[in-house]
Amino acid sequence: MLMQQTQPMTLETPPAVNLYDLTLPELGDLMKRWGQPAFRTKQIWTQMYRNLAPSFDAMSDLPAALRERLKAEVQLGVLKLTREQVADDGDTRKVLWQLPDGNVLESVLMRYPDRATVCISTQSGCAMGCVFCATGRMGLLRNLTPGQIVEQVLYFARGLKQDTFDSVTHHERVTNIVFMGMGEPFANYDRWYASVERLHDPQGFNLGARNLTVSTVGLVPGIRRLASEKLPINLAISLHAPNDELRSALMPVNKKYPITELMAATQEYIEQTHRRVSFEYVLLQGQNDTVEHAEQLADLIQGMLCHVNLIPWNPVPGAPLERSHRKRVQEFQQVLQNRGIACTVRMERGVAIAAACGQLAAVPQPA
Ligand code: SF4
Repeated sequence: MLMQQTQPMTLETPPAVNLYDLTLPELGDLMKRWGQPAFRTKQIWTQMYRNLAPSFDAMSDLPAALRERLKAEVQLGVLKLTREQVADDGDTRKVLWQLPDGNVLESVLMRYPDRATVCISTQSGCAMGCVFCATGRMGLLRNLTPGQIVEQVLYFARGLKQDTFDSVTHHERVTNIVFMGMGEPFANYDRWYASVERLHDPQGFNLGARNLTVSTVGLVPGIRRLASEKLPINLAISLHAPNDELRSALMPVNKKYPITELMAATQEYIEQTHRRVSFEYVLLQGQNDTVEHAEQLADLIQGMLCHVNLIPWNPVPGAPLERSHRKRVQEFQQVLQNRGIACTVRMERGVAIAAACGQLAAVPQPA
């Protein structure tokens, strides 16, 4: 009788399935193949997304034999927590994750008196190259799978539920998700939207679509596609400049989708969905923050169902840029308000741990 050879692990060996990558029907198919009764699917789904079980061992309502098979054949998450930093008296918490291929990503939890928001990455790195953004300097390393996007949220949800994060502000659950971490969500549209469906699923995590916000650099096909989706999630558009010359210098994507095209797609989106859009505008001293720029911006968006979020730039090492001075920020806001445009200045969070907007770069931070 021939001895059976153990196959060495090769690059072709498929990795074990990450259960968070499966839809409910796909999980059902797996249980069927394993000869399990139909109700096991719902049991496992509830454990994953409602009970936020951290391991198969914690799924105590499953038979021991099934738990052992799950442990042996599939994975409950693949992200490895590599570093965790806190700031703002514990109200801001940034996590660095490593993917199985060694690439990295970051996510941030921000607690406010009225909400607990997580800022989630959809890619490792980003191909868009916005000059004011640390992630843009990394280039695109990898698209994340739906499971890898969802896992980031579940980690924070579990910590809040179990009250394991020290903080001055208390929350039992994640109330809002913003897809504003690393990456451009619409450049990974299918996987990103699958994660949205997973997080919204009333049988699972059950977060209302209106508590989800996606931010895009202005990929016009993605805006058009989002307008036709069933879920009414919020749309934020990173505008950052009121004319093509300036916007192309700050954001290379503008050469492909210039402002006229972006505005036309945004207006179509508003007409189709009747939803208010947010324009994000990072303020850079002497670059895009003058009264003239504010007037140009007002000309561009006046009359649209929109809101402007002004973001004083957060420092990125090596970037030859400066954050707008407070007076400039106030003047800019005043011009927009005088023109009847709703406008707020974003509250600063996590700057000390490079967790603020545009700072996520997955590089070691000074201790
Ligand atoms: S701002 Fe967003 S789209 Fe631009 S480089 Fe950074 S992560 Fe990418």
